[in-house]
Formats: sequence, structure tokens, C-alpha cells
Amino acid sequence: MHRRRLIPIVLFALFSMSAHAGTTVENIRIWAEGGKTRVVLDLSRPSQHNIFTLRNPDRLVVDLEQGRLSSRLAADLPGSTGSVRGVRTAIKADGKLRVVLDLNQDVRSRSFTAGPNSTYGDRLVIDLQRSGSLQPVKRAAEAYKPGRDIVIALDAGHGGHDPGAIGVSRTREKDIVLQFSRRLAAKINAEHGMRAVLIRDGDYYVDHLKRIKIAHQHDADLFVSIHADAFKDRRANGATVYGLSLGRASSEEARLLAERENATVTVGGVTLNDKDPILAQVLLDLSQSAAMSASLDVGDHVVRSMAGAVKVRRATVQQGNFVVLTSPDMPSILIELGYMTNPSDEKRLRSSSTQSKLASAILGGIRSYFYTNPPPGTQVAMDISRNPAREVQHVIARGDTLSEIAERYNTSAAVIRSANRLNGDKIRVGQTLSIPIYPGS
Ligand SMILES: [Zn+2]
Repeated sequence: MHRRRLIPIVLFALFSMSAHAGTTVENIRIWAEGGKTRVVLDLSRPSQHNIFTLRNPDRLVVDLEQGRLSSRLAADLPGSTGSVRGVRTAIKADGKLRVVLDLNQDVRSRSFTAGPNSTYGDRLVIDLQRSGSLQPVKRAAEAYKPGRDIVIALDAGHGGHDPGAIGVSRTREKDIVLQFSRRLAAKINAEHGMRAVLIRDGDYYVDHLKRIKIAHQHDADLFVSIHADAFKDRRANGATVYGLSLGRASSEEARLLAERENATVTVGGVTLNDKDPILAQVLLDLSQSAAMSASLDVGDHVVRSMAGAVKVRRATVQQGNFVVLTSPDMPSILIELGYMTNPSDEKRLRSSSTQSKLASAILGGIRSYFYTNPPPGTQVAMDISRNPAREVQHVIARGDTLSEIAERYNTSAAVIRSANRLNGDKIRVGQTLSIPIYPGS
């Protein structure tokens, strides 16, 4: 018994020498369901702490006495989930570790501590409940206050019992698309005036109409469904972008489409079965909606941006009949990142550098769409109206190139060069460039 206990104590002593004698936050786990978000701080030992909320912007602050962050956590803080739009930390002068949860809405919070169980050690649990859920009218008004973020709903396909496409080396689509969606969410959240919502943020299945409902609950301006293709011919490869288009749909066409949907289960992972009459009605309503042309428009921006960075199967937006693209008042696109059934696509989709490149390209397309079609009341719309020259400020990030930036904003390297009096292609990280934006580009 005693000998068994010795090992952790020795290990703890070793870690303590290199770190400190206080509490280490080993991990932060966040998940959301309905209007509730749960945040769990996994601690190396119980800690004295203080929790309070601050407004403008909404945030929740946790101060831990003598707290430190594990290096693994410091390198990989959780991204946006539920009411939490991001996590920041700092060590204060008095030795306290401050963990700040930036919130995307007004919440009521409740916290408690929990001791070790068979899976986890000491934990600090914080439950966030959207306070707006009690006042729906006020919420709706708040959601459209001037200067709001553009909300992008990211829908990682499949999940749980539904693995999606299986790659040649057994990679599961559901895992790749979730990992990719998290990566894209982080990039969107780092973007001025934009915010990402993950429709699923874990390995569980979400019904297709529920996916749309979740996006609506977050007042999403755009719905992006992320998938990876499968095809019996292993040679098929490259990315594809779909937007929904039915032309002038009749109820008969809508019915036929619903029937076809049932047949596309293996491609889009769509299950419809008992929903034909509802879907038919949704599609019919959709045919009168501007969302459909907006979907093709945003899809076009995205595919053009992707074509500059990765291999695309077709350089134009395709018309896809997917259930997740049937939301009548929200532009929606579906991106097949590549083919799981193509060995080199599969390998690339697993690589973090390819994922990062793909995510930047998709964000570039989304950005150029919204800078040319800013939703009223958003910070981006305000920025553009304040600046009649329609320029955006782009801060150079690691890995940016002039031609890639030009591609992202649908302009040319020459235009950027002349607007910023640059001579060659040389740019440096942290440098701010003015990018002229052309309406309708
Ligand atoms: Zn899929």
C-alpha cells in the first residue's frame, strides 16, 4: 500500500521542484448543451479561489491562489464553446493565476469543487446558464445591437455512432472534420468582428435539423458544414464546395429532391427517412428566399479562395442537395475538404499544416464575402461605413504571403503593393497593410 503511494509523491516532488508549490491547472474542459455551458478546471490539488463576473465585454474571472498552468495547457487553451468564446490566463503580481473566460453572452454562473474520482482529480466546476433564455424578447434585441460579431456556425459532420467516410488507413471522417472545425473556429475567433460557434464539439451525433436549430439559436450569419468525401474510385480527389440551389422549385421538384436526399446518405451522411413532408415544405419556402443566392455567393468566394491554396475538384461552387443546407434564412454551404478514399488526400487531411492552410483559405473566402456583403448592425458593417475608402487593415501573420493575402481579399498583389507603397513582395510578421475592398468583388 505504502510503496504504491510513494511513486506519485516522488513524481509530485520532482514536478514541484521545477514548478512551484501551489496548484497547477492541468486541463480546462468545456462543453455546451442547450443554453448551458460547463467549464471544468482539472487541478493538481484543491485550491483557494475566487470567481466573479465582469460586464462590457461579458467575462467570468477565476483567481486561483498560487496557481500555475501546466505547460501542455498553456500551449493549447480551449477555443470557443457554448457561452465561452475564448480563454485567457495571466499570473498576477500577488502570485494568483487569473483565468478569464470571455463570454459571448450574459450568463448566470454557479460553481462548485469536486474531489478526485476514478477518472479525474480535483476539479473546479463552473456552470454557465444563458440568462437571456429567461427573457427571449430582450435577447433578440441584444443580439442585433450595433457592432455585433458576425457569427459563423461550423458544423463538423457525423459524430458518435456515425463515423462518416473511412479512409484507406482507417482515418474516420468524423474525427478529421471535428479537428478541422476546431482549427477553423480558432482562426475565426482571432478575426476582428467575427465569432465561431461549433455545432458539435465532441464525438457525439447531432440530428441534421437540430444542427440547423443550434445555428439559429446562436443567430448565425453563415452555416458551414464540414465533411470529407468518399468515392468507390480511389483516384477521385480534391476539395468541393456546395451551396444549395433549386432554381424555381415546385412542390413536385421538392419532393423529388427529398427522395434523392434519402439516397445520398453515404455521401453527405444525411439521414432523412421520416422527414420528407417537412423537408419538402422547407425546400419550397427556401425557393423564395434570398438565402439561396447568398449561399451560392458565399460558396463562390470560398471556393475561389481555396483554389489559390489547395487542390479543388471544381473551381466553382456546386449545387448540392443536402439537408443541412436547407435553412431558409441563413446562407449555408457544405465543404468537402477532400477524399478520405484517396490515399494522398487522406494523408494530407491528417496533416496539421494542410489543415491550417485549408482553414486559412476558407476563412479568406468567408472574410471576402462578408466584407463585400456585411450584415447590417455588425462591427464589420460599421467599420466599412466609417471608412468610405473601403479598406481593411490586415496584420501580417506568420506564413502570410502577399499573393495569398491578395487572394483572400479578392484583389491583386499589385493593388496591395501600390496602396502600401511596397516595392517587392517582402512583408514582415506584425506589419499592418491597408487592403482596398471593392464592393461586389
Ligand atoms: Zn460527410
